[in-house]
Amino acid sequence: MIRVSDITVYLKCPRMCYFLYKGHDLPKNAPPERILLKELTLAYGSAYNKEDKLSVLNAELDRISNEIRVIYPEELEEVDADKLAVSVSNIRSRLEEICSNLSSTGDFYGYRSVQFEPLLRSEKFGFAGSPDKLIQAGEELLPSIIKTGNIPENGVWRNDRLQLTAYSVLAEEKYGTVVRRGFVEYANWGKVREVTIKRLERRQVLQILDKIKKIQGGSMPEKPHNAPCMNCGFSGICNVKTTLASRFF
Ligand code: SF4
Repeated sequence: MIRVSDITVYLKCPRMCYFLYKGHDLPKNAPPERILLKELTLAYGSAYNKEDKLSVLNAELDRISNEIRVIYPEELEEVDADKLAVSVSNIRSRLEEICSNLSSTGDFYGYRSVQFEPLLRSEKFGFAGSPDKLIQAGEELLPSIIKTGNIPENGVWRNDRLQLTAYSVLAEEKYGTVVRRGFVEYANWGKVREVTIKRLERRQVLQILDKIKKIQGGSMPEKPHNAPCMNCGFSGICNVKTTLASRFF
């Protein structure tokens, strides 16, 4: 079963996908700041409509910094107390800007019917995944993903749009409905961007699933010209000649 996270890896570099399916692991290097920030985003709903947002989020950050090792024990296993404290302090310095943006997120954090990380599976297309949130708004289902990296000037990054589309396809199969829109929450800014789920990305998601199935079958994809090799944990094993057949990827 392909996971939506495999699609995300494929979009970074198809060869990373190949090495993961061959049983190689990527180093666990999610910075603690991103983990804390993602958890804090789940608390934005308790602050967005309050007068004193900053106090609310400061208190939530205190709570989360105490609980985070219980929620992410493996990811934080090798992070010492000092490094965690620096990460908490870095996030605290962002809270004023986050609070100033939360007011402009409209009703988003007011939705009360929310499933967190629901597992969605498509038997039809052989893939599965869990969006950060699946919101029920009247008759509509709205997937939402939380991103802790940079925010684009307008709209959302292409990879975020494709990831959201993949979750939409999964939600449609499970609930027998049409998902027309979803959201990307850019945690470090407290901004939420709405995304219309379009035919183009639906088609691309299905094409990527087909390509991943070929990779699962054992073919090494061509090295993309813009592959992020400098920051890749597989660079030491990646310099393998491609076969003529693999050029079809
Ligand atoms: S070293 Fe470069 S081409 Fe190889 S898997 Fe990593 S990013 Fe992709």
